[in-house]
Amino acid sequence: MSLVIVRLYHDLLGTYGDQGNAEILVHRAKARNLEVDLVEVTPGMAVPRSGDIYLLGGGEDGPQSAALEMLKSDGGLNYAAAGGATVLAICAGFQIIGASLPDSQGQITSGLGLVDAHTIYDSSPRSVGELVIQPNRGELPVLTGFENHQGLTRLGSDMPPLGLVRSGVGNGFDKHEGVWHGNVFGSYMHGPVLARNPELADAVLQCAAGPLAKYVDPFAEAFATERRDTLA
Ligand code: GLN
Repeated sequence: MSLVIVRLYHDLLGTYGDQGNAEILVHRAKARNLEVDLVEVTPGMAVPRSGDIYLLGGGEDGPQSAALEMLKSDGGLNYAAAGGATVLAICAGFQIIGASLPDSQGQITSGLGLVDAHTIYDSSPRSVGELVIQPNRGELPVLTGFENHQGLTRLGSDMPPLGLVRSGVGNGFDKHEGVWHGNVFGSYMHGPVLARNPELADAVLQCAAGPLAKYVDPFAEAFATERRDTLA
């Protein structure tokens, strides 16, 4: 049986290269001899309801609103997530899977509600730069990425962040960065984040595929280590 990875609207939400997260998952799944299907969902296509991993990336406010409206009316991502599918959503995608966020006119609208997270825009300067976080769960080491967002995201009290900010802004409240709730991951980290953090790629993969055999990709390790050491 194949692991089905669904990349959602990367033509709308591909501004920051987050579409590369899919390639990393495919590569690391194949390295474990798993069969993988990468399904591209473009605007107008129905979102498959039986995928194993769903990916959303970052983008500008207009395409973000368009993606949110399509996902709301399609319902497929909510259906799959309710059934336990794994979701990794970056930046605009992270805001979309939350409970509320600004639309392209700046008015607060409802998100998909996969996680209890509320995004606002305020008058603080845009958060742009390297982001370093310390996860507080699993086997995850320090993670690094690049952030570029106006929105600030407050998590509900029972929502665990992906990690605590060591440097950078992240969600902008309580030193939280991202969210990791059940099989749903959200983060402000571009990079793509799974290229910069192979351990996070495996954490996402394991949610969908179960325990994984050890796999060391020297190039990925060297890249992750270079970023961590440089930003330490
Ligand atoms: N439009 C959102 C913001 O500025 C998301 C940006 C992004 O995806 N990089 O907060």
